[in-house]
Amino acid sequence: MTDSSVQQVLTERGLTRRDFLKFCSSMAGALALPRRYSTRIAQALEAPKRTPVIWMEFQDCAGCTEALLRASRPTVAEIVLDILSVDYHETIMAASGHRAEEAKKQTIDAGGYILVVEGSIPRAEDGVHCCIGGRTALDLLSEAASNALAVIAVGHCAAFGGVPRAAPNPTDAVGVMDLVKDKPVLNLPGCPYNTVNLTATVVHFLTFGELPAMDELLRPLFAFGARIHDNCERRGHFDAGHFVMEWGDEGHRLGWCLYKMGCKGPVSFHNCPAVRYNDGASWPIGSGHGCIGCSEPDFWEWGAYNVTELQKFTPPDTFAPVQLPVQQIAPASAALMGGLAGLAVGAAGAAAYASLSKKEKPEAAEDAPAEEE
Ligand code: SF4
Repeated sequence: MTDSSVQQVLTERGLTRRDFLKFCSSMAGALALPRRYSTRIAQALEAPKRTPVIWMEFQDCAGCTEALLRASRPTVAEIVLDILSVDYHETIMAASGHRAEEAKKQTIDAGGYILVVEGSIPRAEDGVHCCIGGRTALDLLSEAASNALAVIAVGHCAAFGGVPRAAPNPTDAVGVMDLVKDKPVLNLPGCPYNTVNLTATVVHFLTFGELPAMDELLRPLFAFGARIHDNCERRGHFDAGHFVMEWGDEGHRLGWCLYKMGCKGPVSFHNCPAVRYNDGASWPIGSGHGCIGCSEPDFWEWGAYNVTELQKFTPPDTFAPVQLPVQQIAPASAALMGGLAGLAVGAAGAAAYASLSKKEKPEAAEDAPAEEE
């Protein structure tokens, strides 16, 4: 594709400018930016110069590429990826052989591109376990990263090693961040990663010229800053002690908590409850299966159906309890009593909380599940 403005691409795709501006607002929201930033995002995306992308694929199942292509209809998010110039992608590019390699070389020599990596990189026996065109993944990654503005590792394999790195890790597979030390690296783990998060990361980079804020595992905070358990639609059932005990039992049919079926939501950080998968249609817990923790480094070792150990109780402050005792009292009395009780409890609670050190926080109820920090 030659250089073209967003407006041209929109017209070709049959979308309106209003669609585009709505998308910019939603991206500002996804990135946890104030709404006024949507104008700046729009201006950045309308720049006529398209940023080149090289997409390298190593030890993986191509599921992350599938996720990229999976959208069922043209969306503005796809257009944002259209306005990038994907100069090299082994799975989807039309060119092949020497022509494809030449296109990649030209992009690398020119610099100023984003490198996206899918799949882990094997180090055993000098990297011979993954070769493309007679060169090892180790060599290809080193070359492709050499002139990149930033490197985005998509999927668990590229971020943390994925299935290839699971014990006994016969190829000594690792993720990108273990090898690329001199360029900004960002991880979008997940199996597969969520394309919404790639789009938001790209939008942030194009708008501000840098990668978004990250945690210690190089995951963007806008997508990995919150625990799944704290935003889960089944959380009320966890707090009420309503657990699925067997696949297909009454609790499963009623949508109860999947903790005892091995759900890893209490120890996993990802925005799945908000963005979901497949154009926002659903996500694993919404479909009745526990979270497998695919945003966390060692999730393949955890065992999908092993119950995760919790060490600390988290107060039920996100969702209203599922069951509340119903009491009949007159509205006026309720308001008065509620006000007085609120003042008393609030003052006592504030004083008590202020006097508590972290270690002195309340213990879990004896029969309540405890949670890890
Ligand atoms: S344990 Fe899993 S299903 Fe239950 S509330 Fe937490 S995240 Fe949701």
